[in-house]
Amino acid sequence: MADNFIQEIIEKDLQTKKYGEKVHTRFPPEPNGYLHIGHAKSICLNFSTAAKYGGKCNLRYDDTNPVKEDVEYVDAIEEDVRWLGFEWDQRLWASDYFEQMYEAAVELIKKGKAFVCDLSGEEIRAYRGTLTEPGKESPYRNRSIEENLRLFEEMKAGRYGDGEKVLRAKIDMASPNINMRDPVIYRIAHASHHNTGDKWCIYPMYDFAHPIEDAIEGITHSICTLEFEDHRPLYDWVLREVGWWPQPPQQIEFARLNLTNTVMSKRYLKALVEEGAVEDWDDPRMPTIAGIRRRGYTPEAVRNFCEAIGVAKANSTVDISLLEHCVREDLKEKVESRNVIFDPIKVIITNYPPGQSELCEIENNAQAPEMGTRQVSFSRELWIDGADFMEEPPKKYFRLFPGNEVRLKGAYFVTCTDFVKNEDGSIKEIHCTYDPETRSGNGFEGRKVKGTIHFVDAATAVPVTVRQFDYLFVENEQGEMVANPDNIKVSTAYAEASLAAAEKGERFQFFRHGYYVADSKLHTSEKPVFNEIVGLKSSWKPAK
Ligand code: ATP
Ligand code: MG
Repeated sequence: MADNFIQEIIEKDLQTKKYGEKVHTRFPPEPNGYLHIGHAKSICLNFSTAAKYGGKCNLRYDDTNPVKEDVEYVDAIEEDVRWLGFEWDQRLWASDYFEQMYEAAVELIKKGKAFVCDLSGEEIRAYRGTLTEPGKESPYRNRSIEENLRLFEEMKAGRYGDGEKVLRAKIDMASPNINMRDPVIYRIAHASHHNTGDKWCIYPMYDFAHPIEDAIEGITHSICTLEFEDHRPLYDWVLREVGWWPQPPQQIEFARLNLTNTVMSKRYLKALVEEGAVEDWDDPRMPTIAGIRRRGYTPEAVRNFCEAIGVAKANSTVDISLLEHCVREDLKEKVESRNVIFDPIKVIITNYPPGQSELCEIENNAQAPEMGTRQVSFSRELWIDGADFMEEPPKKYFRLFPGNEVRLKGAYFVTCTDFVKNEDGSIKEIHCTYDPETRSGNGFEGRKVKGTIHFVDAATAVPVTVRQFDYLFVENEQGEMVANPDNIKVSTAYAEASLAAAEKGERFQFFRHGYYVADSKLHTSEKPVFNEIVGLKSSWKPAK
């Protein structure tokens, strides 16, 4: 059963045996930056679609532009694809096909379908016309085939400087589709290429190279984003005119992923790194796959998100809270909870003997009892959350205040007897008494309390650095995305002792606070550092 229009096309092609039994897709990143969540959508789509029909998916580096690309990004790209849970059939480089692309260009010249043009880039643009006016033919358009072959050969041999000549397809300067008005298919660039070195000084343009790359690899369905819809006639023209493939691939366009509060262009993300607005490409605030991995998102959550948003033929913007919702849903029954105290206040249990301590049993995940329990220590001095005490509580405040009794989760009922302030008016410590009868697990039913709060034992607590994040971008009143300077809050919290032993990348629910992950770079058992993954409450509402 087809889940979307792309699968419908594939199923029809399988029925008519257009490509026999074959389904072959590819993910074609340009190695000029780290992958982002938008690429995740394309990765999930290409790899899952192939998998669904027992087909194959290649990872192909689109490295036809010698100056912008950097192999530095290659390892990162592969790590990201694998992290998402996919494995490519073959790993290929578009630059390995430069020879065939050159031959294809020569073939077009021989057919009278391509010519060498001496117009400058600016002149070509001026001759191109507009959406409402046809273009003007280049004065070099009617060069003889022999002359074109000679000049193209000379371009290849390095006789000319950058921009001096280009090779153009000879199509139709009056076409309503500007892409078909004698597009440039080869240009001169005297630049070293990471793969081919100085072998070439002419490089194919994307619109010429891409269909050939697809065809050489035997791709059946070349899935790309909507901006390329107007380029499809050129994609088909190249494959038809070169004519080497009896059943050439077909390009299918889908709507790219846009997310609220998120900027996704590699160029822009690179600028954030270079300006120092973020630590690096894998900063947990970044929408890169490396960033969301370090942030603690799971590959399952990202895949579920890509599934949930589906594949559409019209552009739209997805609310980022849907992605966060998928992360929360995935973590909910997967991770253990830990007591961590934010904005700590000291509590002294005045009737608990100094020097004594005991272990209390706490469930690891209230929603998943099979995850068992752990022991936390309890003694005379504890830390509780700043938000769990009020000197003068409003109505319906059931946590700690003078005279009130609450349950300390996993331990005892305690009653606040009084408190001490610092000189600046802040709370220095709270004094409570505990009732030994009420120990959790003893089946005490004498009386009920309305509030339950959590604690950590001050004697064994470990200070941990917690990093809470906000979006890098917010929408202003005009609906424009602007930088949000207030995007990180770093504080120290007190955690139950076991958290120091967390492994890098290990995830927890900080009880009542949210989901957190031990930072994959900064965390050590001496200096624990945790990143907020996502809060506990969802602001995402399904559309009615
Ligand atoms: P950017 O503009 O962010 O740099 P790009 O399109 O130039 O992205 P490529 O490396 O050329 O990046 O893209 C590899 C593949 O990922 C392409 O097939 C492209 O269509 C797809 N892709 C890129 N961005 C998105 C997005 N936001 N949503 C879906 N697919 C995307
Ligand atoms: Mg690109």
